[in-house]
Amino acid sequence: MLPSLFLSHGSPTLALDDVPARDFLRALGGDLPRPAAIIVASAHWDSEMPMVNAPAINETIHDFYGFPPALYQLRYPAPGAPALAARITDLLAAEGLACRIDEARGLDHGAWVPLSLMYPAHDIPVVQLSVQSKLGAGHHYQLGKALAPLRAENVLIVGSGSFTHNLRELDRQGGSAEPAWVSEFASWMDAALTEGRTCDLLSYRARAPHAARNHPTDEHLLPLFVALGAGSGAGTARLHSSTTFGALRMDAYAFS
Ligand code: ZN
Repeated sequence: MLPSLFLSHGSPTLALDDVPARDFLRALGGDLPRPAAIIVASAHWDSEMPMVNAPAINETIHDFYGFPPALYQLRYPAPGAPALAARITDLLAAEGLACRIDEARGLDHGAWVPLSLMYPAHDIPVVQLSVQSKLGAGHHYQLGKALAPLRAENVLIVGSGSFTHNLRELDRQGGSAEPAWVSEFASWMDAALTEGRTCDLLSYRARAPHAARNHPTDEHLLPLFVALGAGSGAGTARLHSSTTFGALRMDAYAFS
């Protein structure tokens, strides 16, 4: 069975930058069995209630400003999966989670940047799922749990966010060493994930060192809890760890 994944999507320029996280994502698609479809919960679609998209073909949303022109030329026209979107709303409804379908929306860069590296042929149907930044870790864990049965149907469930995400404290030139407040938070999270300490993880904002400094708002960590909930609890593997811009951790995890 496919694992569920948490991926750090980093800067939109990850699609162009020669960094270890890009090479990791390029190899990852081929390392996994080919999925029948992909669900991506992206930090960049925030809504009051869960939403899934269901276009015939996904538009590529360039939801960023002031980046190199080459980035705006990239397209990822993966097919949508309206039947799967409807299935997701049924699975969530069965758990008391109301969910709406947006038939027009495409894929934001939290979805298409990592997928364009993993599956450049854009021939696997993709459904995007929104996050609810006001509803916290536990809600997203429940979303993942509701989606978990889809893993048995060869659907790849991906949470796309960022392991750390304080954009005001990045070193945009690169080159500086990772500060202790980043590495201490990441080490605590890694230990809690690999030891299966779900309760600690769900209250990470109170328990993890420097949590609010690493995530001034937590929409970029919420996709992690979707992936965690979609796993069975049988095993957690760190697939990748690196840092860009001094403080932006690019860690990735698989939950089997
Ligand atoms: Zn992002």
